[in-house]
Amino acid sequence: LKDSEYRGRFAPSPSGPLHFGSLVAALGSYLTARAAGGRWLIRIEDIDPLREQPGASLAFLDTLSAFGMQSDEPVWFQSRRLAHYRQALEQLIASGHAYSCMCSRAQLQAFGGIHPAVCPDGSDGDRPRSWRLRVESAGSIVTDDRRSGAFSQSLADTVGDFVIWRSDDWPAYQLAVVVDDAAQGITEVVRGADLLDSTPRQIWLQRCLGFPQPGYLHLPLAVDAEGRKLSKSDAARPIDATNPLPSLRAALAFLGQDAVMADQPDAFLAEAVAQFDDKRIPATNTRLIAGLNPISR
Ligand code: GLU
Repeated sequence: LKDSEYRGRFAPSPSGPLHFGSLVAALGSYLTARAAGGRWLIRIEDIDPLREQPGASLAFLDTLSAFGMQSDEPVWFQSRRLAHYRQALEQLIASGHAYSCMCSRAQLQAFGGIHPAVCPDGSDGDRPRSWRLRVESAGSIVTDDRRSGAFSQSLADTVGDFVIWRSDDWPAYQLAVVVDDAAQGITEVVRGADLLDSTPRQIWLQRCLGFPQPGYLHLPLAVDAEGRKLSKSDAARPIDATNPLPSLRAALAFLGQDAVMADQPDAFLAEAVAQFDDKRIPATNTRLIAGLNPISR
């Protein structure tokens, strides 16, 4: 891979305002892409209308732009790409990888939440159906992460046949993310470590669909003193788009990088790119932000 062929992305779900945890993922993916001389794309993953906060997508883009981070190509909105996900689903049905399922969460509790290869209660009836991907033949899938190394998972033992199309007739995150990472030619996925354990499912989907496998770099996840992910925590106050520098400095420190002196976002980012060193990203999967209040400093 020539450096200039690197394509990275930041793919937020607009379920709330941009908080420190999402800024870390945005900055981490941006710096990695720029340090490789590559492109950086923003994709809004708005396929969950019930969890979406009105106006959040545009607020995200405005905030990122105030922080000096703009997509190198037009921003993609997943809600406008449903036909592509449906086409992938149809391909998986036709190749025998996907089957429809009416099992409820309660029914699956008897199986520890892991769907068995055959629906326990058969597949008759007229309740809304989801579509699941078969994992019996996936074997053990190894993710080679640039920061945390090899991670191996047996899908059959840990997740079972998983939902790729939801019973409310929306594509599942796992399917949409794989279709779009391929469609956008993403060469490396840089995101929070909470998605490390989704990666084997995504690799399996890539194999079933005949897509190339990107590289992966999972960043430490910002958690509060109780170990909760920031999006689920009180500490997840929105970051201040009118005052980017304190949050940018805190996010850069969180990523283990040297401090940068510049006091304008564009100059700050240029300096941060020039001295970016992926080896300095902390080795842990979670990192506490308690005590450090990136929002109000
Ligand atoms: N949209 C997902 C989220 O915000 C992230 C997707 C990804 O980076 O793969 O949690």
